Amino acid sequence: MAYTPTIGLEIHAELKTKTKMFCDSRNDPDETRPNVNVCPVCMGFPGTLPVVNKEAVHHVLRVGAALDGALVDYTEWDRKNYFYPDLPKGYQISQYEYPLVAGGMLNGVAITRVHLEEDAARNQHSGDGYSLIDFNRAGLPLMELVTEPCIHDAETASAFAQNLQLLLRSLGAGDANMEKGQMRVEANISISKDDTLGTKVEVKNLNSFKSVEKAIAFEIDRQTEALEKGELLVQETRGWDEVKGITFSQRKKEGSHDYRYFPDPDIPKFRLARIPGFSKDEIKNTLPELPWEKRARYISLGMTSTEAETLVSDPSYGSFFDTEVLARMNDANAIKLGTNYLLTDIRGHGANEDELQRLSGGAFAEVIALTMKGELSSRGTKDLLEVLLKEGGDPRALAGERGLIQMKDSAALGRIVDEILSENTAIVLEIKNGKQEALKYLIGQGMKKSKGSANPGELEKALVERISAS
Ligand SMILES: [Zn+2]
Repeated sequence: MAYTPTIGLEIHAELKTKTKMFCDSRNDPDETRPNVNVCPVCMGFPGTLPVVNKEAVHHVLRVGAALDGALVDYTEWDRKNYFYPDLPKGYQISQYEYPLVAGGMLNGVAITRVHLEEDAARNQHSGDGYSLIDFNRAGLPLMELVTEPCIHDAETASAFAQNLQLLLRSLGAGDANMEKGQMRVEANISISKDDTLGTKVEVKNLNSFKSVEKAIAFEIDRQTEALEKGELLVQETRGWDEVKGITFSQRKKEGSHDYRYFPDPDIPKFRLARIPGFSKDEIKNTLPELPWEKRARYISLGMTSTEAETLVSDPSYGSFFDTEVLARMNDANAIKLGTNYLLTDIRGHGANEDELQRLSGGAFAEVIALTMKGELSSRGTKDLLEVLLKEGGDPRALAGERGLIQMKDSAALGRIVDEILSENTAIVLEIKNGKQEALKYLIGQGMKKSKGSANPGELEKALVERISAS
């Protein structure tokens, strides 16, 4: 009988706030100079007092409401005691008994809790016998989300983390960039042959969705192999070596009692619902459209799941679609055509937010209208979009200037055909005598005369008609 893997996730995400969790030092993830965003509070000087960051609490409650978790009314803060050089106070302020959010669901995965704590500083080990510490990160608001051990494969774990990242971004709660360490995933993995849970191994340092998947798959194989050989697994913390593609033992796991949690006496207890803007209803009513709601809406418009996913995972394209395609194009065919040009050509071009801005305010809808009317060929549409993305401008005027409008006016086309025929009597005679390939030359003349605006098909048709009638 095969082993069933059981996976639970612990995800930490730095929140986007003006200041740190318990002091007014700046929360600036782009700061590259070490130890500039620090103060006596986040440096753990004796006699300082923490003040809770309201914005951070608000972010976590919004995340909780979006996940349909229970938002607590009463909450308090606890000290998690341990010594490490990146923890200036000798304890981390976290939440133990009263997390801000209990329960909830994301991507079919049940959530145990979501709480708020402070981040530690960043150690830089030189390898020459000393280490440097950058305290800019010490005290940043850090959300911790814990799932139930109810995931059974690596792909579901990775999809969960991706959807959480989308949610944090769409709520403006955090950038959750994994490469920058703004979102950090730990996976608890065990395998067993029956309903009991096997020995749990925690894997840390997963800093991309790919590593989440690869590390879990590796760990399932490693544990299966060990048990097959009759070895005993130990409860431990393992790291992930991205280069070698393996997990390695870091330390044996401490139990939570080692941290001597107790309520922080320096921070008041909160009745959240009594704070204006923090009641469950107020929080729920101010949520934007959530990523999975957006996904369902796009699918219901007839998009493929890949198209919907592109718009959901790229907010600038999602909002461009909503305001410039959906809101401005009334016709289902125009919307379909617009979606196509947006996802294939504009996105294929890698257009950024500034470039999309130049196509906004109705310009894109006007281009698509010209295409729908046959005034722009598909080549012409692509060329015009390219110019508009780079330089902006009025679509119709630009298309005219650049000779991209196809000539639909049959009188004008007739005048051009007359001119060609009278200027090329010898060639016309050759065609009449059966030299059909000479027709191409006349079409070329017509395209030149119309400055490229004639439709070559129509030009050919008109020329053939006139020659055979003469
Ligand atoms: Zn500070």
